[in-house]
Amino acid sequence: MVSSSVLGFPRIGANREVKKAVEAYWAGKLTADELTKAALEVKKTSWTSVKSKGVDFVPSGEFSLYDHVLDHSAAFNVVPKRYVGQGLSPLDVYFAMGRGRQADGVDVPASEMKKWFDSNYHYVVPELSEETDFKLLFNKAVEEFKEAKDAGVTTRPVVLGPVSFLVLGKASKDAKPGFQPVSLLPKLIPVYKNLLGDLKAAGAEWVQVDEPILVQDKSATLEKEFTSAYEELVPVAPKIMLTTYFSRLDSNLTYVAKLPVAGLHIDLDRAPGQLDEVIAAVKPNNTVLSLGLVSGRNIWKTDFEAALKLGQKAVDALGQDRVVVATSSSLLHTPVTLASENKLTAEQKDWFSFALEKASEVAVLAAALSGSTDAAVTSALEANKTSIAKRREFESTSDDSVRKRVAAITPDMLDRKSPFAVRKEIQAKHLNLPKFPTTTIGSFPQTKEIRQARAKLGKGEITKEQYEEFIKKEIEAVVRFQEKVGLDLLVHGEPERNDMVQYFGELLHGFVFTQNAWVQSYGSRYVRPPIIVSDVSRSGPMTVQWSSYAQSLTKKPMKGMLTGPVTILNWSFPRADISRELQSKQLALALRDEVVDLEKGGIQAIQVDEPAIREGLPLRRADWDAYLTWAVDSFKLATAGVTDQLQTHSHFCYSDFDDIFPSIQRLDADVISIEASKSDMKLLNTFKHYGYSNQIGPGVYDIHSPRVPGEQEIKDRLKSMLDILPDSLLFVNPDCGLKTRGWTETEASLTNVVAAARWARQNY
Ligand code: GLN
Ligand code: ZN
Repeated sequence: MVSSSVLGFPRIGANREVKKAVEAYWAGKLTADELTKAALEVKKTSWTSVKSKGVDFVPSGEFSLYDHVLDHSAAFNVVPKRYVGQGLSPLDVYFAMGRGRQADGVDVPASEMKKWFDSNYHYVVPELSEETDFKLLFNKAVEEFKEAKDAGVTTRPVVLGPVSFLVLGKASKDAKPGFQPVSLLPKLIPVYKNLLGDLKAAGAEWVQVDEPILVQDKSATLEKEFTSAYEELVPVAPKIMLTTYFSRLDSNLTYVAKLPVAGLHIDLDRAPGQLDEVIAAVKPNNTVLSLGLVSGRNIWKTDFEAALKLGQKAVDALGQDRVVVATSSSLLHTPVTLASENKLTAEQKDWFSFALEKASEVAVLAAALSGSTDAAVTSALEANKTSIAKRREFESTSDDSVRKRVAAITPDMLDRKSPFAVRKEIQAKHLNLPKFPTTTIGSFPQTKEIRQARAKLGKGEITKEQYEEFIKKEIEAVVRFQEKVGLDLLVHGEPERNDMVQYFGELLHGFVFTQNAWVQSYGSRYVRPPIIVSDVSRSGPMTVQWSSYAQSLTKKPMKGMLTGPVTILNWSFPRADISRELQSKQLALALRDEVVDLEKGGIQAIQVDEPAIREGLPLRRADWDAYLTWAVDSFKLATAGVTDQLQTHSHFCYSDFDDIFPSIQRLDADVISIEASKSDMKLLNTFKHYGYSNQIGPGVYDIHSPRVPGEQEIKDRLKSMLDILPDSLLFVNPDCGLKTRGWTETEASLTNVVAAARWARQNY
């Protein structure tokens, strides 16, 4: 029989119970015991509901109060010194590592977070050095296996594999130069032996060991590490299902197929092309093959017919008993259940499948591949066929004019009329900005009043007119504030935006919004990505009214503010029936019209934010060029429709440019602003090294903390920037939007920024 499995389940709870409990604990409103209890209730519900859908391998141990990588660090005694000896309970040390802690005389910053592969989930980076003293302080996998068993569900525990754990980590400050975390593998293996041995003793038949780094190029050099690790672990562990996801094994398959594990999981949602070679590679050694046929990354109903075709191939080659139908990855990246949505139309609901619905899907697919003639299975297959046909019908009646417009894009539409050097002269005359112009990244504090006004509008407690009057007052206050502080290139402050992607999604055709489709971003932070369901177009101007109004209030130039096509795409659930490239180009054309309208509306500078352009990079380098080509083209398409005198800006929230530098230059934005970081001089050297020609605003201070930067500190920063960059290219700005900051620190910080820029004008 073909069996079914789910690789991991969302942690939040159908009614956000875990998020609420964790935040209540932080606020001192819940005890540790109460938090544990609330979490257990959610875990139990997840286990029993996944099982009730007919899934054979139900996951446990992947639940987390903050982050599963952090769970492993805490369990393995990978706790940086700064958190130790502060008198904190283990639970508080855990949370301090995740989010920092500033209370009762303890003041420790959070550990670094990084994006989990190409998703919008962030993990807490383990800090490792030669001194790391691995110990198994607790065994969460065993505890949760037992909890599930008590709840009547025998699970397949999940652990993050030792090689991925180390490679995802970084050298801590006290590591010797050149230290490689993976060199600690021989010290870590004994801990994994304990962990997995205890699981076996507790009665676990299988364990899912995640080694997602196997889909990355860097694993090509890790054959020795993987081989020695699994040769040691296999004899003491339950049967190991070695799990890979988000991309393909490629050349790593050669050695992975030789590992002595009992099962191998591959992602057929992202990389269906690898099936044949994986089947051929595992066939001789009796390995069970787990097929990731149901996407763990999107919210679309699985096309059963297509999935069954792939599944049948594996069954024909390996036999039913050696095949598992699974979700492609953990369902962590999907919302809990469609059942919580009551505003979607019946037609829309029929397109989607969230985590709980996906659990049913793997069970039905496994039953079908086992040749089941059960009435429930047959009718589920029929229902799927009908839904998919309806969806295809909907897609085919999509917006023809949008498709035609994309097909008619010509190369000249991507380029500005004149090269940057010419534009710079024209813009200098037109905008009349001083040397070292000061500006901000767009948003100003989103105060409680602003959020309340929006909520009132949503509930119908105030009219649209009243809301717009309120927003206008906010804009006016932001304009007056900037004039008072003495900034040069102003912004309207973005008070009308609930979120930089949602705001545009709500105004564009082609998006659908949910009420409860929360997906974890990090810790207790969840986002509700919009869903792109059909061809995207603009029905009319989206921001012109606000930007023009702001411009009408002042003689200083006003910068229009838009979210870029690639970022809107990356922070939404995209369609699965057409390429990301096509969706990005559709978005770009809609934004192009907005950019042109802003210029017509009297705006002289426009910033198109692309903070997500880098995170969209494919996991395999071989795929980078194709992505960067359409991503950069999309930005250019969105921004190139204007005259030379319009100054385009873009903003990125990261400072990791080395490997994609030529693409940053190819964007050809007149000005880019980037995150401040401890290594920003290295970053600026990269710009210098490549001879970057356009203007740059490296953030002069970090807005992610309430700390006010001193004037001297900013001057020092400018000084070292000017050691590297030509003074004619430098803009002076904070490193990101100010929406999460309070007004007091904003005023103090920007006053110092302006003073430092004035000082630079006199001294350079
Ligand atoms: N313009 C946006 C803001 O200022 C940019 C946000 C971002 O880069 N994430 O909020
Ligand atoms: Zn930013």
